[in-house]
Amino acid sequence: MLMSQQFASTRKDVSEEEVSVNAQLLTKAGYVEKVMAGVYAFLPLGLRVLRNIEEVVREEMDAAGGQELLMPALHPKEYWEATGRWGGLDVLFKVPSQHGGREYALGPSHEEIVVPLAQKFIHSYRDLPQYVYQIQSKFRDEPRAKSGILRGREFMMKDLYSFHVDEDDMHAYYDVMKIAYSNVFTRCGLNAIETEASGGTFSEFSHEYQVVTESGEDIIFTCECGYAVNREIAKVQSGDECPLCKKGVINEHKAIEVGNIFSLHRKYSDPFKLRYTDESGVQQPVYMGCYGIGISRLMGAVVEVHHDDKGIVWPEGLAPYQVHVVQLGDDEDVVKSTQTLIKKLDKVGVSYMYDDRKLSAGAMFADADLIGAPHRVVVSDRSLKNGGVEHTVRSSGDSKVIDIAQLVKEL
Ligand code: ATP
Ligand code: MG
Repeated sequence: MLMSQQFASTRKDVSEEEVSVNAQLLTKAGYVEKVMAGVYAFLPLGLRVLRNIEEVVREEMDAAGGQELLMPALHPKEYWEATGRWGGLDVLFKVPSQHGGREYALGPSHEEIVVPLAQKFIHSYRDLPQYVYQIQSKFRDEPRAKSGILRGREFMMKDLYSFHVDEDDMHAYYDVMKIAYSNVFTRCGLNAIETEASGGTFSEFSHEYQVVTESGEDIIFTCECGYAVNREIAKVQSGDECPLCKKGVINEHKAIEVGNIFSLHRKYSDPFKLRYTDESGVQQPVYMGCYGIGISRLMGAVVEVHHDDKGIVWPEGLAPYQVHVVQLGDDEDVVKSTQTLIKKLDKVGVSYMYDDRKLSAGAMFADADLIGAPHRVVVSDRSLKNGGVEHTVRSSGDSKVIDIAQLVKEL
């Protein structure tokens, strides 16, 4: 991509309403743009990051046997009435139709859609277990939306639903999901702590994946032994002896909930009478689990954790581009060497942004740091005189002049 032709450039005039670090940096760097409180457009750079996160999530869900599908965002009211959530869920967006007085829900989650759907295909024990997931926009009428893309009224979520013959099978798959979730967050450069949280009315616990950072809206209590619990259900406080290992001391942290997994038991299968016929021909209830990851929130959490005073520092796997190429001046040698470099990058399939704008070195470097690609490569008269191009690693700041062919090999 040529930086001079980008749809969205970097900006300095970010609204003061954007108090969160993620919204400040992502807006300044041209990843997102606020449309209204809690609603953001993902610009070309931002969409590339979102897609990278989605790909990580897809790979891990597929590896755990998940089958991807896509359910609608617009839902019939009757299904929400069947579970009692039409009146019972305070964040539900309700949409009146212009015709015939009908009303719809905008999906905040998809149990009400996936269960009637599963009913069409699950009849016998031979049809179980099943695992389906989607990556899709969710809508929630959040009372406060001031944390940038961490809390949207419209946001991207991965939601997986599992269907089982009994409780044991439901619990066994829950453990499979724990591993998949841990893989996802590690691959996204996050240390997400598996934290005991409310299981609702249907389970003792759920597990949240919490990323410790000052900007978090949740409070969790942890011990070095691995014990972690959300304050909402905690029977401990900071300074207490750990109830699990009986040795460590409980610490308190602010954290961002990036994922949440639930054993649903029969909470949603019962209202829709989702049943199967067992081996002896008897009707049995289906047990379910559901497993969510806030894809767009995860992107915001990565920025909250991985930035410095100059801008974003993307983990390699999530960056919109691997390399930020800066061409300083347009002397013949510089132009030629830059062309050689980007041809080689094209050949080996390393993605790059090419800053071809004729700005001051300082302005171009500042934008490179703000955007936060893992590698910056500067081609200038000086670097060529010193034997190549100047390669700087964004995360460490380590810098060296290196021959183009050698650099491409290293990348
Ligand atoms: P919170 O407690 O932060 O409001 P939640 O517990 O209601 O979230 P879940 O229903 O568990 O959210 O949704 C699954 C995941 O979707 C969450 O773990 C989170 O990562 C993400 N998520 C939930 N609400 C939002 C939101 N308003 N904006 C962005 N991501 C969200
Ligand atoms: Mg949750």
